[in-house]
Amino acid sequence: MRFQAAVLRSYAGPFAVEEVSLRTEPADGEILVEIAGCGMCRTDLAVRRSAGRSPLPAVLGHEGAGVVVRTGAPDAAIGVGDHVVLSFDSCGHCRSCRGAAPAYCDSFASLNLFGGREEDAPRLTDARGEALAPRWFGQSSFAEYALVPARNAVRVDPALPIELLGPLGCGFLSGAGAVLNAFGAGPGDTVAVFGAGAVGLAAVMAAGAAGALTVAVDRHPQRLALAERFGAIPLPAGTAGLPERIRRLTDGGAQYALDTPASPPLVNDALRALRPTGSLGLVARLHTALPLAPGTLDRGRGIRHICEGDAVPGLLIPRLIRLWRAGRFPFDQLVRTYPLADINEAERDCDAGRVVKPVLLPERGSR
Ligand SMILES: [Zn+2]
Ligand SMILES: [Zn+2]
Repeated sequence: MRFQAAVLRSYAGPFAVEEVSLRTEPADGEILVEIAGCGMCRTDLAVRRSAGRSPLPAVLGHEGAGVVVRTGAPDAAIGVGDHVVLSFDSCGHCRSCRGAAPAYCDSFASLNLFGGREEDAPRLTDARGEALAPRWFGQSSFAEYALVPARNAVRVDPALPIELLGPLGCGFLSGAGAVLNAFGAGPGDTVAVFGAGAVGLAAVMAAGAAGALTVAVDRHPQRLALAERFGAIPLPAGTAGLPERIRRLTDGGAQYALDTPASPPLVNDALRALRPTGSLGLVARLHTALPLAPGTLDRGRGIRHICEGDAVPGLLIPRLIRLWRAGRFPFDQLVRTYPLADINEAERDCDAGRVVKPVLLPERGSR
């Protein structure tokens, strides 16, 4: 079948929306999804800095959501017509997957970041027949259709606005899951969030929903204003004596801190803002060595990386939808929609901080 997709051909070049061709029918355990909307996540844009490890040309996009139009097996748990949110890929049989920790799948990098499953390689091609790297994060959803493993799809109520739900599969899942799963924050806990982008603001909303007192740190005033609207105490990143300010606001230090920018000075500040036994979670990948100042880990403080919010998507996505319906996780206020054809504008707006979460909508029938 032929349809439109956004193709990235070079690490520095723009996306090009063009016709692509998908060769195979869904195999056992696969579903074909008509994409209603796909969020743009920092990890899509990080491909540009992957130093050649993420293969191009590729169809990116890994916050897709849409409607199932074909399935590979009639007895699948997901059927034609179901509305689904797509999340990351995992093998399903390694120790982490068997232990309900698919974000730590032994094959996470190869399945999600470096070109997908080997058997997929020839299935997606451009109009000239050249192979495109498919199944970025098991999806490649900057497109009208995506062929995905059914285990990555989470069925949702068809009454919901499916085109907006894709970011629940990665960015919002990562921030909310860090707070709800990795920290297990509850009423009376204190949480400091460093960086108020899509992941950080989802963490702020989740901390508020959990009843925790939250402090948010960012250098953009408009992002801090959003964090404040969602219940956090705002602190500009350049505030003098930032860790001391946070310790005062949190009655002796935050129990939990979440760092989203992975900047070593801010990581040290985040550790200094913790109370004894406090935990710092990192969500981004470090690009330099991380020197820690003496004392920052004393008295039981800890630091760990948190991938995809420690989430089992089939459990956390329905939970976030329930919180949203109760008015306690208003993620839709962070979303701005763009036609898929305007994907380069969406990237520019994202880089400039003009939008927190772009969601790209394929425009059917407009060709
Ligand atoms: Zn696995
Ligand atoms: Zn992502």
